[in-house]
Amino acid sequence: MIDVNYNYMLHFFRILSFSFLIFGAVSAHAQHEAYTEPVQQQIADTTFVNLKDYSKDFVYDMKYATEDNFLKAKVYDCAECLLRLKTVKALVAANKDFIKKGYKIKLYDCYRPLSIQKKMWEIVSNPKYVADPKKGSIHNRGGAVDISLVDMNGKELDMGTAFDFFGPEAAHNYTNFSKKVLSNRKFLKKIMIENGFNSFDSEWWHYNLKAGLKDNVSNQKWNCN
Ligand SMILES: [Zn+2]
Repeated sequence: MIDVNYNYMLHFFRILSFSFLIFGAVSAHAQHEAYTEPVQQQIADTTFVNLKDYSKDFVYDMKYATEDNFLKAKVYDCAECLLRLKTVKALVAANKDFIKKGYKIKLYDCYRPLSIQKKMWEIVSNPKYVADPKKGSIHNRGGAVDISLVDMNGKELDMGTAFDFFGPEAAHNYTNFSKKVLSNRKFLKKIMIENGFNSFDSEWWHYNLKAGLKDNVSNQKWNCN
């Protein structure tokens, strides 16, 4: 009986020490992972983030945080550019390409809560210029931006019309402009498309992230503190 118990205990301790060995190896591996993996990679690509936390190289002119827009009302409490992380990554990459050539992206609008979309639709019920809130805009999905370009002195390039000009002149296929205007629009479009965005026929300033078209619409508001 004593021999049996002794053998049994020996076997038990062998299993125990083997378990500690495995546990040690696993936890060492976990610590290694936690140490080397940057924080940003732990956030899902669909998470809403603030662009300013990822780059300081953008110029902001967030029209809906002022009264200088077609609503004639300040509909955002503060001027922040929220987007899904994947949109931010593509936009930062596009801006790097522009910077290499001596320009920067100027932002007019980014993510837009659905309730604001409804206000816009009440004023302009034309899907050429404002998306029907029943379907939702890509802005409501965190995948669209309204942008222009400035040079390194902050001077905006001539794009032929102002932002939110609701007329045929705002369309990409309108060609009755100077060569300069047409080449400015073409330049904006080329780099954006190279970085995963689609242009929008009737508005030279609007770009949708191709990988962001099917995300859910949102009505969350951002923190202004
Ligand atoms: Zn837009």
